Amino acid sequence: MKYCSDCAQPVSLRIPPDDTRERYVCEHCGVVHYQNPKMVIGSIPLWDEGAHAQVLLCRRAIEPRHGYWTLPAGFMENNETTAQAAQRETWEEAGARIEMQSLFTLLNVPHVHQVHLFYRARLLDLDFAAGVESLEVKLFSEEEIPWNDIAFPTVSHTLKFFFADLAASRKGSDFGFHTLDITKSMRKPD
Ligand SMILES: [Zn+2]
Repeated sequence: MKYCSDCAQPVSLRIPPDDTRERYVCEHCGVVHYQNPKMVIGSIPLWDEGAHAQVLLCRRAIEPRHGYWTLPAGFMENNETTAQAAQRETWEEAGARIEMQSLFTLLNVPHVHQVHLFYRARLLDLDFAAGVESLEVKLFSEEEIPWNDIAFPTVSHTLKFFFADLAASRKGSDFGFHTLDITKSMRKPD
């Protein structure tokens, strides 16, 4: 940040009085410009819970990670709920209609100032299509997941948790809720 968004004068990076962290402070109007993590919200659209279960993935048409596969997800907008964000992103990126289910993962990614949330969801029909941010959209069974070509560690970990819980659900267990802190050196699940 170089200029104050309130008065357009230059800002400086310093610790304001009674604070403990560096902030962009406007020396002209005195406004402190706080910067906080962004929420990235997505869904895990599932088709068929049985032996032929498949999850909908999108191949990214945009940077970062162009050409890699991801669950439909994106930045939460103002004036929407987390569930609405998941549903909207799934529609925008995959043209897919879903029935929202429970919140499934919460992953902190502190080094990029993000928190990722993924909801379980039921894909309502097979009438999906790639949106402008996707090259293609496709259903994958667990065996078909392109693990080496998944765009983000939060997506790989969410898929690992998901298929483990899906297998357990067939033996009568409920789906869990999983949290994980992703560090800079942590790229893929074991
Ligand atoms: Zn200012």
